[in-house]
Amino acid sequence: MNWMLLKLFRIPIFLFLCSFVLLFIAMNGFDGLGHSTLFSGISDLFVKGTALLSIALFSISVLWAVYCGYRLWRWDKGSSEFCHNCGGITEFKDGRYGPYQKCLMCGTNKSI
Ligand SMILES: [Zn+2]
Repeated sequence: MNWMLLKLFRIPIFLFLCSFVLLFIAMNGFDGLGHSTLFSGISDLFVKGTALLSIALFSISVLWAVYCGYRLWRWDKGSSEFCHNCGGITEFKDGRYGPYQKCLMCGTNKSI
C-alpha cells in the first residue's frame, strides 16, 4: 500500500522537490554573477525568473497532489478502475502495443 502511494504521488513529490531546489538556487546560486556590473542585470533577471519558476512548480505540484488524492479517494470508494489481480489502483498508459492499464500496487498490465 505504501509503495502504491509513493508511485501515485511520485510526480507531485518530484515537482515539489524541484521547486525547493530552484528556490534555493534563486536565493543563493547567482551571487557570483551579481558582483560584475555586466552581469548584474542578467543576474537579477535569472533570480526573478527562477523564483517565478519555483512558484509555478510548487503550484503545479500542489494541484497534481490534489488530483492524485482525488484518484485515491475514488479508488477507495470503489468507483474507479482497479487491478484485476490485486485490486490496486491503476493508471492508463499508451505503449508499443496500444493502450493498457498498469497496476501501481503489483505492477501487472492489462490491455484495454
Ligand atoms: Zn495489481
